[in-house]
Amino acid sequence: MKLIRAYLFLRVFLAVFFPILLVVLAVYPLFKRIQTNNTAFDEIAASYSSISRANQLGQYIIDAETGVRGFALTGMEALLEPYFTAQINFQRTVDEMSITFKSDPVQLVRLTELEQDFIKWRRDFAEQEIQLARSKQDVSALIPEGKAEMDKMRKQLRTIIQQSTEQLNQGKLAQANISQTSMLIASIGITVALVLGLILSAAVAYSLSKSIQKMIAVARKVEGGDLSQRVEIKGKDEIAQLARAFNAMAQNLQQKVNNELNERKVLNQRVEALVDARTRESKQISHFSEMLQACQTFDEAAEVVRQTALHLFKTDAGALYYLQQQDMKQLTSWNQVQSADSCNYDDCWSMRRGKLHQLSNQGTALPCKHLTGPVAAALCIPLLAKGDVVGFFHLQAPATLPDYQATSWLEQNVDLAVTMAEHIALALANITLHNHLREQSLRDPLTGLFNRRYLEEAASRELQRAERNAYPLAVLVLDVDHFKRFNDEYGHQAGDEILIHVADELQEHFRGDDVVCRFGGEEFVALLPNISEQQALQRAEQLRSAIEHSEWLIDGKHLRVTVSIGAAIFPEHASDLDSLINLADEALYQAKNTGRNKVVSHMLAAHSHE
Ligand code: GH3
Ligand code: MG
Ligand code: MG
Repeated sequence: MKLIRAYLFLRVFLAVFFPILLVVLAVYPLFKRIQTNNTAFDEIAASYSSISRANQLGQYIIDAETGVRGFALTGMEALLEPYFTAQINFQRTVDEMSITFKSDPVQLVRLTELEQDFIKWRRDFAEQEIQLARSKQDVSALIPEGKAEMDKMRKQLRTIIQQSTEQLNQGKLAQANISQTSMLIASIGITVALVLGLILSAAVAYSLSKSIQKMIAVARKVEGGDLSQRVEIKGKDEIAQLARAFNAMAQNLQQKVNNELNERKVLNQRVEALVDARTRESKQISHFSEMLQACQTFDEAAEVVRQTALHLFKTDAGALYYLQQQDMKQLTSWNQVQSADSCNYDDCWSMRRGKLHQLSNQGTALPCKHLTGPVAAALCIPLLAKGDVVGFFHLQAPATLPDYQATSWLEQNVDLAVTMAEHIALALANITLHNHLREQSLRDPLTGLFNRRYLEEAASRELQRAERNAYPLAVLVLDVDHFKRFNDEYGHQAGDEILIHVADELQEHFRGDDVVCRFGGEEFVALLPNISEQQALQRAEQLRSAIEHSEWLIDGKHLRVTVSIGAAIFPEHASDLDSLINLADEALYQAKNTGRNKVVSHMLAAHSHE
């Protein structure tokens, strides 16, 4: 089976075998000729020997006749010797010839006739002559007939010789013919075989070389990178099989390279998408950070956080918690978060541990208490300010997220959420610090009351509001009586402490929308919105009285002070702060001049002037 499929082997084999076969066929007649030559040679030899024997027979006949004639003439018995010898020789030669003529019946008949004639001649003539001669009788009567018999035999012999000579010549001619023809066949055959062999082997070699060269050319192209190249397949021989195997290999290679290219393309696209997403995220984060930096209040920051979270986390819900008076208060939330508006410090695992807390339906982490419903996955990231946990950023997977995606949701979001939380923590700490500084810059460090700068700010706001709402606003100016003396008597330190107590009294009496500040030295100003003059004076009087009746233990001594208060009303007396304070100051001056420890309204002061 394998051999049959080995067409190439067959082709090469035939290219060699066929000419050899031709040579053999061509040489066969020669070989045959050599064989037939031997037979022909035998025949020619037989013809030669027949001719020679026939001649001998002729000689024997003559010898016999001569012997008989000699005896008849001389009567010498010795002369009969050749006659007897010839008889023996004749018979022996005839016997030998009849063996040769076995295959030639015509000659055999002639020979037999010749033998019979010889026997007849001996019986009828030779023996008669010998008898007659012995008895000395005349033999001449027998001679003519005996001679005629002799002639007949000679004639017969000639016929035999002639026939044999003819056969000899025919044999020679046939042999020459055969030699010539077989030589011709042999030379033509060998020439044709040689030419055919040359052509066949050249054709096989050419087709082999051409096929292999084609394959080499394609292989070079494939090696050069053109993997689409294929070898043309012709026939079914080993070259075709090799070409098919090569094509399959190239196909495989191309497939693999294509697969690899596709994979690389997909990977590149994925990497690009990832880089794009990261770049986008990082841009958004940097924008987010910038926006947060610009925020001055928690509300502003919370709104920025909410907007950014909606943008970055799309459908995920979330909330921002910040520590306010021991509680975690939700500053903002988005996408209907399943989490309480406020909670205890302990209600969130991230707050307790000061670490990121990842909750997943597939994990073992405990859910935080601030959660108000079931969630597939959630993140709580503590907000750290100088090592203290001051709040947490909460993100939860949408309610539609299947449980099995919980872990991947966490993996996808945790980094971004942590980054965001870091920015939020920093921003909130900045806002806190900013608020603190601002507070500090607006407050009097000794008494903790607002300072004059704050008063100016607050006054313009309050006056606008009063005007808008059409209600009055009272301005009270308070001054400690004889404070210089107090300082001189009890020392500056004691004076400071007294100022603190007076400030406390002020704060106790004025609350809510009232604005109380230390105006400078031992002077204080209070703004009381939405109050009548009478009510304002009443409240001022209550304050004055309370201070008058207060006694503070300072340096082991029970000390007390009195205060004088001047009042002016917006819009009745004036419409701007400076004017109102000046008017109240005037009233205060009046109070000082009229005995101190009293409340004087601008109106009254003006009246008293009149
Ligand atoms: P009166 O207002 O009753 O007319 O008398 P007075 O002594 O209070 O008046 P004056 O305005 O002349 O004196 C104010 C004094 O207040 C001067 C200063 O020594 C004292 N003083 C101002 N600021 C402070 C302060 O911060 N601490 C202390 N201990 N004393 C202060
Ligand atoms: Mg004063
Ligand atoms: Mg004073």
